[in-house]
Formats: sequence, C-alpha cells, structure tokens
Amino acid sequence: MPSSSVPPGGSQKGRPSATKPAALWWVLGALMLLAIGQAYFLAPAGKQISYSEFKGLVRGGQVAEVAVGDTIIHGTLKKPEEGVAGFTTTRIEDPKLVEELDEAGVKYSGELVSRWLPEVLGWVVPLLLLVALWSFFFKRMGGAEGGVMSFARSKAKIYAEDDVKTTFQDVAGVDEAAQELREIVEFLKTPKKFTNLGGHIPKGVLLVGPPGTGKTLLARAVAGEAKVPFFSLSGSEFVEMFVGVGAARVRDLFAQAEAKAPCIVFIDELDALGKARQQSAFGGHEEREQTLNQLLAEMDGFDARKAIIIMAATNRPEVLDPALMRPGRFDRQVLVDKPDVKGREEVLKIHVRNVKLDPAIDLRKVAARTAGFAGADLANLVNEAALLAARRDAQVVQMRDFDEAIDRLIAGLEKKRVMSTKEREIVAYHESGHAIVASVLPNMDPVHKISIVARGFGALGYTMQLPLEDKYLMQKGDLLAQLAILLGGRAAEEIAIGEISTGAQNDLQRVTDIARSMVTEWGMSERLGTINFDTSRRGRFLDLGIPSERGLYSEDTARMIDDEVKQIINSALNEARRVLRDRRDILERVTRRLLEKEVMEGDELRAIMLGTPDPPPEPAPEPAPEPLRLT
Ligand code: ADP
Ligand code: MG
Ligand code: ZN
Repeated sequence: MPSSSVPPGGSQKGRPSATKPAALWWVLGALMLLAIGQAYFLAPAGKQISYSEFKGLVRGGQVAEVAVGDTIIHGTLKKPEEGVAGFTTTRIEDPKLVEELDEAGVKYSGELVSRWLPEVLGWVVPLLLLVALWSFFFKRMGGAEGGVMSFARSKAKIYAEDDVKTTFQDVAGVDEAAQELREIVEFLKTPKKFTNLGGHIPKGVLLVGPPGTGKTLLARAVAGEAKVPFFSLSGSEFVEMFVGVGAARVRDLFAQAEAKAPCIVFIDELDALGKARQQSAFGGHEEREQTLNQLLAEMDGFDARKAIIIMAATNRPEVLDPALMRPGRFDRQVLVDKPDVKGREEVLKIHVRNVKLDPAIDLRKVAARTAGFAGADLANLVNEAALLAARRDAQVVQMRDFDEAIDRLIAGLEKKRVMSTKEREIVAYHESGHAIVASVLPNMDPVHKISIVARGFGALGYTMQLPLEDKYLMQKGDLLAQLAILLGGRAAEEIAIGEISTGAQNDLQRVTDIARSMVTEWGMSERLGTINFDTSRRGRFLDLGIPSERGLYSEDTARMIDDEVKQIINSALNEARRVLRDRRDILERVTRRLLEKEVMEGDELRAIMLGTPDPPPEPAPEPAPEPLRLT
C-alpha cells in the first residue's frame, strides 16, 4: 500500500536460477534402475543349489548340459523340477569335474562371461551417479551464482537500474540528510561544473542511521533525482562461502559502473562486509577481508573525475573498518535520523497518498502518538490501519483504526525501545540540563540543537553544540565548564525529579576521562603538580590495543590522583547544580517545550532563556564544523 515502498535490492535481475530439485529426482531414479538392473543381469539364472547337490545331480545322470564360467556354473536338467530346468551353483576348485562330466555324458562348455556388463553396472555407473550427486550439492553451495566453478558467470549479472522512479518527494522527515544529498545530486547532474575548476567530486557517502529510517530510500532518491543509473548490492551479497567470489563481484560491479558513469553505486548494509579487519588466530574471515580490500582498492583506483558516487548505508557505523572512512573513501557521512513530530507527520502524509482517509483524521495527532517510530514503522502503521478498516468493512480509514494500529505496533515495538511518558520526561529534563548549563557558562560553544528523539545507538536524546571555531587548546577553565555541562544532565534529573537515572552513564564516562586526564596528563592539579603520570598512552599510536597499564607511581600517588579526580568532578557537579537551581523555571519551560516538540533549535532555547515567549523563525543552514554531541 505505501506507494513508494520498494523492495530492498530490487535491482538484481537476470540471476541464474539455482539447480532445480528435480535433478535430485533424476539421480534417485537412475539409482533405482541401477539396482534393478544389477539384480536382473548379475543375478544367477535358475535355481540356486549347492556344489555337492550339483555333483549329486551329475552322478545321478540328471544333468543335460552345463556351462562352466569363471565363478559360477549354469546348467539345465534333463527333466525340469517343478517347471524349472535351470540351475546355478558356485564353482569350487575341482580338477575332476571334467572327467565326471564326461563319464555322465553331460554336454559342457566354457562360458564366456560378458565382462563389461557387470563391470559397468558394478562400478562405472555408480561412480557416474556419485559424480552427478556431488556436483548437484556443489552447485547448491555455490548459490545463486550457478556453481562454484563459474565466477566468470557473475559477469552476466546486471546490477544496474536505469530508470529509478524514487525522488525526494517520497522521503520525509530527514531534512538534514536530504539537504546534504541534494548537493550530491548536483554533482551527478553537472559534474563538469565542478571538475572544470579542478575540484573533484566526493567519492563516498555513508548513510548512517537506525533501521527503517529511509537510508535505502534516500540512496534511490538521489539516483532518481539525478536521473543516473543506480547500481546496488547488499553487503551480505558480497560475502560468499568461497574465497574470491566477493572480490570478483566488487571488481565486476565497478567495471560495470565505470562504463555507465555518471552513476551511483550503492552498497546496502555495508557493515556485513566492512567490519573492522582483525587478526584472528583462526584466520577466519579471509573472504570478507579480501572483498573489503578489493572494495578499498576499487574506491582508490577509479578516476575521481568520473562522476561515480559510491553510497553505502549502515546502522552499525561503530563496527566499520576505520580504513573505510579515510579521505577519498566514505569521507562524507550523512546521519539519517528518526523523524521528529513534524517529520513523522510528513512521512505519514506520503504514505496515506493512496489510502482512503476519513477527512476527520488529524495526522498531527497520529504523529504525536508515535514518538520513536522510524519511517518504515510509520509506513507499516498506515498499512495496518488500512487493513483494520478493511476488516470491519469500512469505506474509509478512521482515527480509531489508527489508534488501534498504534497500540498494536507499540506493543510490538516495545522491544525496540519506545520510550514511556515517564522516560521521555526524564530524558527531556536531562537534555535541558545539558543545554542550559552550556548556554549559561561563559566561553562555551553555543547549543545548536536539543533532541529527545531516541536514536537507536543507545542514546535516548542529545544536545548538540556547534563550535564557532576549531579549537586546538583547551584552557583549564574551559575544561571545568565542559565538565559542568556534561554533568548538567544528571544535575537536572536530581533537581527536577529528585531522583537520578542510568541515563548519564556516557556522560559520567566522559567526565571521568576528562578529569583524570587533567590530573595525570595535563598537570592541572595543584596538589600533584605539573607531572605527566600517564605512561600507558605513549604506545597508543601503534594502536595495538594493549590493555593500558597504570603509570609508574606509588600507591599513595594513585590515591591522591583518585582524590583529585573526585574533587574536580564534585566541584563541576556543584557548579551545574548551582546554575540549574538558579534557573529552575527555565529548566521547566525548556523541558515542557522539548516534550512538545521533541527537537529544539538553539535559537529557541536562547529565546526561552532570555524570557522571550515567541521563538524566532527557523535558523539559517548551519556551518560545517563537526558537531560535538552530548548524550
Ligand atoms: P533503511 O534502509 O534505513 O533501513 P528503508 O529505506 O529500507 O530503510 O525504508 C523502508 C521503507 O520505509 C521505505 O521503503 C519507505 O516506504 C518507508 N520509509 C522509511 N523512511 C522513510 C522516510 N523518511 N520517508 C518516507 N518513507 C520512509
Ligand atoms: Mg535499508
Ligand atoms: Zn547526558
């Protein structure tokens, strides 16, 4: 029902179909025939008797004729017994047999046993069948590629989609990401404009965000807007059982793309392939590493003047190999976030385009009730509501259908952490605390944005400060203020709710790191003096991950360091408490507003702090410096 939904990886056409199970039936059938054939041809004809019985028959003159073979003797009786005249016996070493046959007047002959038939039936045919079975299973292991022996065939695979219909009209609620990607569209549309001046086009764009936020959709939209071919493959498709296949595919993909530039190469779920390479005692991840290396080589290799943009998506950026992020590779990272209230309304609007809605439905209310839903969840919600309406034979989808669908989905999403009202409130106080302390203390970077939209990386909300200039040095006062900001979250919870939560864990980690560094590395403690106690960091640029040893100092010094760290943190916490106690009403107002809007721009925060009731209009697009995030 969502008109814009596109199956992920819908671009793989012309995949050779895997060997059909019918082949297995053929092989089994042949085996049955073989068994029957063996029984028929190789089985001795006539009645089976023992050699002594045979001798008895000969002596008794009952035998008419025998044919002596290598291992068996066939014979016929003069008078058939019970209708059977033939008999067979197993031959024993018996030199007198011929004499006795002569005496009894039996006609005898040597039998020319047909040698090839038993031979063929006995082992050549089974061998052939085994080979057939073996290759059958091997093909299945080779998967979609039609067998392990045919890497070359992957050449025939078409990765491209020439006419992508998705546009930015189909994506909503991810304005910042869309904004950045528009620039990429420009590059693709008029590469000359940029290269003529000697610049080169960015090579790699990594879309990072929780599942279902529209990363795949955005990548397609870029191709659709720029009207360029879209080559796509999922990271997991590169990783095959056989070493070398993935690397060959990467080569292939880039060869095809280069022929079609300008175009987009999209690697979905990059983490499946781009996990950090590591030394493994078992040498386990050969194939993935080879594939990754090939990808890196290709990204470095192709001509930067050709307008090929490599896009990739992941929801686990933290596991990616750092080599992927180097300049000239995925150096642009675009955050695709879960939508806020306004964004959710926009997404809903897109997905109800083809749904018969009761005009009384207020999508804003639906959006307000679905905090924490990603785009895909909202698409699913609309579908669910339509199905519910259909089930009760309604003509249009009504608000009650949406309500019921939301209840159902939230129950299902519970595992995915949809925050309760109480939790949202805690998070709102926490983030407001960070933001207010950051705005009040002098010399701090201005707050750019506060958000309580959970983002799936563990952080429940964030406060973002934008540095006005790059800083290479921090003064002691700045560091202390930074500590107070980091502790502002916890202080706000304390003051407003009267209880603290686990939400400050990451803050505390960073606070401790900074305070300890102040004491042991930067010589900022008067009691300990200007000494660098930290010996463990010296080797860190080899990045070997050796567990850090403690510096070379006495137990007493260690205790003193701990005391100093504790003291620094305590005074920062007190500073944060003081700032917030003095502004209890502002804390309340910022929190209420945040609960309402979920995302607040820095300007609005400043307006509230100045006591201006009306927030100013939307701020201008933001400058480039890397934002600093507090969680
Ligand atoms: P991701 O790749 O981030 O996991 P997808 O792009 O595959 O998410 O999204 C799946 C579907 O969810 C899309 O096809 C679309 O129907 C819907 N969807 C997700 N995000 C959005 C969005 N921001 N705007 C509109 N629809 C969305
Ligand atoms: Mg996806
Ligand atoms: Zn925090």
